[in-house]
Amino acid sequence: MCPKLRRHSPAGTDQAPQLKSKPLLHFHPPCYDFSRPPGDFVKQIQNYIDGRFVSGVREFADVNPADGSVIAQVAEAGLRQVDEAVQAARRALNTEWGSLAVRERAARLYKVADAIEKRFDCFVQAEVADTGKPVSLASKLDVPRAAANFRVFADLIKVSGLESFQTQTPDGVNALNYAIRKPLGVVGVITPWNLPLLLLTWKVAPALACGNAVVVKPSEETPATATLLAEAVQEAGIPDGVYNVVHGFGPGSAGEFLTQHPDINAITFTGESKTGAAIMKSAAPTLKPVSFELGGKNAAIVFADCDFEPAVNGLSEAVFLNTGQVCLCAERVYVEHKIFDRFLDALKKKAENLNLGWPYDTATDFGPLISAQHREKVLSYFQLAKDEGATLITGGGIPEFGDARDRGFYVQPTIYTGLSESARCVKEEIFGPVCHVAPFDSEEEAVAMANNTKYGLAASVWTSDLKRGHRVAQQMNVGITWVNCWYLRDLRTPFGGVGLSGIGREGGIHSLNFYSELNNICIRL
Ligand code: NAD
Repeated sequence: MCPKLRRHSPAGTDQAPQLKSKPLLHFHPPCYDFSRPPGDFVKQIQNYIDGRFVSGVREFADVNPADGSVIAQVAEAGLRQVDEAVQAARRALNTEWGSLAVRERAARLYKVADAIEKRFDCFVQAEVADTGKPVSLASKLDVPRAAANFRVFADLIKVSGLESFQTQTPDGVNALNYAIRKPLGVVGVITPWNLPLLLLTWKVAPALACGNAVVVKPSEETPATATLLAEAVQEAGIPDGVYNVVHGFGPGSAGEFLTQHPDINAITFTGESKTGAAIMKSAAPTLKPVSFELGGKNAAIVFADCDFEPAVNGLSEAVFLNTGQVCLCAERVYVEHKIFDRFLDALKKKAENLNLGWPYDTATDFGPLISAQHREKVLSYFQLAKDEGATLITGGGIPEFGDARDRGFYVQPTIYTGLSESARCVKEEIFGPVCHVAPFDSEEEAVAMANNTKYGLAASVWTSDLKRGHRVAQQMNVGITWVNCWYLRDLRTPFGGVGLSGIGREGGIHSLNFYSELNNICIRL
């Protein structure tokens, strides 16, 4: 039986939760029945098209990363199901949804948030079973953020005024210009496995707020919570066809079918940079606008004048949260020479004190990687670090438990030092619980090393000198820089990356601008 779960946090921020226990909720098929223990509830996860759960062309297994057990069979959507989903979405735009007043659309988004919270335990358990992330993290971050996403964009759409201009031409003609916001149409939403519900709702909520209909393709590794969301959306009175889910893979499967579909008006994608390139290519013939949130090789710069303990704690989170599988995680840590040995030693102790447990155990703070395949990739970088001449500070292998977790996909929290800045382990995104720590002597050197990457998602700067904090932050070639903190998010702020880390910004008004078209109207007075 799963533990009692808790919820959470002020809307619009990723902050500490307010604990409040909720009853365990049970759902009818096709969702999981979480009243049964893991391993005893193999279920069907189906596509959700036009308000109905439907099968696909074949099935694939949904695996629990903690012990390798199969927890569900998932219906893979073929070309036909993807087309049905797109057509259902298009029809929905021409019915009630397309003519709803903004305040009524917002009211339904608030109801989606309520419906998520009503199913809080079920969402948490589905996310934990799919990803292997600790239950403490899913209940503090992933599920509360999903509800907050709907509330924030419902708030914003109600107050998102647009510019207007009183115009006078040189020859004295007067006019009034004003813009109105119109939906794009049908938006294809493709998401990864690391924060499945959080990232999916980060895109679905603003898309719906702007009056679009969506067809979402969650990661094949984590199909559960997108499917559960269908129930919340239905309960909130969002009409059939506005929210559709197709399951499957990328190339030759639901992902690619979606990006190629001529009736999809835009693609919003979070995932690997090379997948972004493939999507761009396949969306090009129909000139779809794209919003891309991609990979990172994020740097942290730790100055000798930092507040030492909070910096060590912050960096430990920045490297190891979600087993290092957050796009914002720091894989490159630069520490001023004067405190290098002391800092490295403190970070090592933090890594070695992490509790590698069963994801359902509330004391666990470090779970498995997402899949056997991803673990192979991370282990290959551990080997590469060795081959490239790194000094291993801690970790570098697979932990042994002596129970079913040995069939799961765990690796040890790992720290290296001693690599050159041109080593592949310092250049390439690993997306695991691993960082390379290198010393620096001057501010200029630290900035140059941090910026020496083709990625540009996030950075963090740790210093007690406020002027230096601003100065260094402003030189980072990234989408977001944190000073004396990490992953402190206000959902109204712009979010995205430069270089290989993305195209465009989402968050707040930037999301509304992507998910809508502006029609400027000019009236001669
Ligand atoms: P991925 O690119 O392998 O897959 C993401 C999604 O794209 C999945 O749903 C997958 O099925 C689909 N897909 C794959 N190939 C496709 C294709 N050719 N056409 C259409 N769809 C396709 O990424 P992942 O392994 O699931 O996630 C990890 C990556 O995501 C990391 O690189 C991480 O940095 C990045 N990420 C970025 C952010 C951000 O906000 N910038 C957030 C989270 C994760």
